Amino acid sequence: MSPDLDRLIGLQQLDSTIDEARRRVAAYPERLAEADLRLTGAKELVEAAKARLKDNNEARRALEKDAAMYQARVSKFKDQQSAVKTNKEYQAVQHETETAQRDVSAAEEKVLERMMEADGIAAEIKQAEGVLAAQEKEIGAVKADLAKELAAEQEKLAKASQQRESLLASLNPRLLSLFEQVSRVRKGIAICSATRDGLCSVCHVRLRPQVFQQVRQNDGIVQCDSCQRILYYVPPPAPAEGAVTHPA
Ligand SMILES: [Zn+2]
Repeated sequence: MSPDLDRLIGLQQLDSTIDEARRRVAAYPERLAEADLRLTGAKELVEAAKARLKDNNEARRALEKDAAMYQARVSKFKDQQSAVKTNKEYQAVQHETETAQRDVSAAEEKVLERMMEADGIAAEIKQAEGVLAAQEKEIGAVKADLAKELAAEQEKLAKASQQRESLLASLNPRLLSLFEQVSRVRKGIAICSATRDGLCSVCHVRLRPQVFQQVRQNDGIVQCDSCQRILYYVPPPAPAEGAVTHPA
């Protein structure tokens, strides 16, 4: 194989490695966000339970205020009872007192209900927080793996870029410019092999016999008539020493 073809194949491998590593590095933030997104459900459960506890507390405080107000009414009527003159007035105030006392009891009972409900919600919060913590731990491990992967890709990228630089220094500028021109218009693949039955391995167009013959020599720059990619040929492996070949 001609040294030029060898270098171009090497350049293509480095370009593909660089391309792939860049794509992976660029995809990293989205993969991190996806990992975080997996916590959304568990976070929402914790937040919903906390919101319910807050509502519960507010409702309880309102009921406590009601209870205090009814209690004040009871005291007021009790004061009035000692000042009434007639039996009829006494009975009226007595009736008001009893009503107010019933209101106090009803409000206090509702306060108790709210407090019991709050205990249940607090247990739910604790349980949801436990689930969230377990998931956070799991996602933390996923993110640590992602960070390791990113570091490895960045290292691969740096190494390949460096190798590419030194390869370019040994490459004929006209060849490089041809390579880059084809690479630009052909999705980053400027050089590819011809198949053993004479097709371009990327665009799959059949090469003219004389072109295929030239490609098989591997000693010059031959381009695919159809996609313009530079072609090389990988000969079939030589049969192993002592291997028996059977006619087809
Ligand atoms: Zn082709």
